[in-house]
Amino acid sequence: MTAPSERDWVAALAALDEATEVGLLCHVGPDGDALGSMLGLGAALRARGTKVVASFGTASPEEPFAVPAAYSFLPALDLLVPPEQFPADPKLLVTFDTGSADRLGSLADRLETAPQSLVVDHHTTNTRYGTLNLVDDTAAATAVVVAGLLDRLGLEITAEVAAPLYTGLVTDTGSFKYAATTPAVHELAARLLATGIRHDLISRAIWDTASLGYVRLLGEVCARTELDPAAAGGLGLVWTSVLAEDLDRHGLALSDVEGVIDVVRTAQEAEVAVVFKQEPGTGALRVSTRSKGAIDMGAVCVSLGGGGHRFAAGYTSYEDVATTLDQLRAALGTAPHLPA
Ligand code: AMP
Ligand code: MN
Ligand code: MN
Repeated sequence: MTAPSERDWVAALAALDEATEVGLLCHVGPDGDALGSMLGLGAALRARGTKVVASFGTASPEEPFAVPAAYSFLPALDLLVPPEQFPADPKLLVTFDTGSADRLGSLADRLETAPQSLVVDHHTTNTRYGTLNLVDDTAAATAVVVAGLLDRLGLEITAEVAAPLYTGLVTDTGSFKYAATTPAVHELAARLLATGIRHDLISRAIWDTASLGYVRLLGEVCARTELDPAAAGGLGLVWTSVLAEDLDRHGLALSDVEGVIDVVRTAQEAEVAVVFKQEPGTGALRVSTRSKGAIDMGAVCVSLGGGGHRFAAGYTSYEDVATTLDQLRAALGTAPHLPA
C-alpha cells in the first residue's frame, strides 16, 4: 500500500492553486466515487472563482452520454458537459477514480493535448499516467483524497461540496461496511454530515430506489446464478449474466444494474462472484468481480486487461460469455490464495 509523498502533495497543491481554468474527468460508466469526488472538487474550485468544466467519456461510440439515474440528485451536475464539448486542452486536466488512461474512454486523448494532468485516485492498480499523480491506495475512496486536497488548499467544505464527497465515501465503503472503513473515514463522514446534507435521501437515491423492471430483472438473473465449486483452486465461483436483451425487455440501462453483483456476492458457497453485463450496441461484456478477500481480484483483473481493488475489480471482454468464463477460470486457477 502506498500513500502520496509530501512532494506529490506539494506539486498537486501548486497546480490547483495556480489554475484559473480546470477540466475534470472521471472514468467511463461513472459510479458514486467517480462522480462524487469530481463534482466535490469541482464545486469547491468554482466557489473560489476557478473556471471549471467536467465530463466523462463513453466506452464506445454507441454508448450515450448520461448520468446514471441513481446519481441524478447530485448537486453541481451543471458542471458537466457532454464529452464532445469538453475542451481539447484545458490548462490543468484532473482525473478522478480512474486507474488507467484507457478508463477515460472517448476522452483519453485529452491527456495528450492538455499541458498538465493531475491524477487523483485510490486504485492499487493505478498506472500513474498523469504529469502529476496523487494516488493513495490506503484511501477508502477517491473522495477521501479530495477532502485532503480541500483541507490543504484551505477551501471550505460547504453542503454543495459535502453531498458529492459523502456519495463517494458511502458508495466505496458499501455504507461503511468494508475493510477500508477506518476511524478517519467516520470522522470525515461526521464533518460532511455536519454541513446539513441529507444522508438519508442520498442513501435512498443510491440503493433504495429502482424501477419495477429492475426488481423483476434482479429476480431473473439471480435465479440463473451458477456455481462452480472447483474454481479458484477450490474456493468456488458464482456467476450470472445480464444480457442486452434482458436490459431491453425491462427498459433498463447498463448503469441501472450496478447493484446485481451486491446480491450475487452474498452466496457463501463461493469466494468469487462475477456478473457479466453486456453493453447494448457493442455486445462487449463488462465484467464485475468480487472476492471475500482470499483472492486479489485487482491482480486477476489486471491480467485480463482491467483493474480495481482486492475485493472489487473489473474488466471488459470482447468474447462471448462462455469464452470469457473460460479465461476467467484460467486466471482464477493460478491466483494465489491470501490470508484473511
Ligand atoms: P464495478 O464492478 O464496475 O463496480 O467495479 C469494481 C471496481 O473495479 C471499481 O473499483 C472499478 O474502478 C474497477 N473496474 C471495473 N471495471 C474496470 C475496467 N474495465 N478496468 C479497470 N478497472 C475496472
Ligand atoms: Mn469507481
Ligand atoms: Mn473509488
